[in-house]
Amino acid sequence: MWNVFPFITTLIHLKLINLYYWFLNITFIRHNLLIYIMALKFPNSTGECIYFTRRADDKSKIIAWVFKKVCPKCEKGIMEKPRDEKTGKPKIRATEYVCSKCGYSEEKKAHEESLTLNVQYTCPHCGHEGETTTPYKRKTFEGIPSHVFECGKCHKKIAITKKMKEKKGEPDTDEE
Ligand SMILES: [Zn+2]
Ligand SMILES: [Zn+2]
Repeated sequence: MWNVFPFITTLIHLKLINLYYWFLNITFIRHNLLIYIMALKFPNSTGECIYFTRRADDKSKIIAWVFKKVCPKCEKGIMEKPRDEKTGKPKIRATEYVCSKCGYSEEKKAHEESLTLNVQYTCPHCGHEGETTTPYKRKTFEGIPSHVFECGKCHKKIAITKKMKEKKGEPDTDEE
C-alpha cells in the first residue's frame, strides 16, 4: 500500500498549484476591478466641463474638473449656460443652466451644488498622489473662497482657491 503514497502527494501538490493559480487569478481580477472603479474619468476637452482648472507649485499639483450634467428631465440634452443667440458663445453671467435639447432650466446655485468636483492631486503636505471627489460647492478656507478636499493619506485639507481674474472688471468665471 505504500506505493500509492507518492501518487497521492503528487495529486495534493497539483491541487495546491491549482488553488494557487486560482488565487492569483482572483487577486489579479480584483486588482483590475479596483483600478477600474477608482479611476476618475478624465475629460476629453474642457468643453465637457463647467469647471476645469490646473494648479501647480513646487510641492503640489492639482487638476480639478466638473462634468456638465445630463438633463434630468429629457435625459438627452446637456445642461449648460444659455448661449448668446448672435455669437453662439455661452453667457458667462447667466444665473441659470439650460438643457441644450428641451430647454429645461435650473437655477445656477442649486444646479452647481448637485454636481461633483473631480480632483487629481499631489498632496502639498505629504506628497501623496491620489484622486478624490467632493461636492461642487465653494467654502471659505483661510478667508478665501475655495473648493476644499482632504488628502486620502494624511487627511489634511487642501484648497483650490478661487482665481481672481486680473482682466479689468471681468467677473470670475467657472471655466478657468
Ligand atoms: Zn432636457
Ligand atoms: Zn497628504
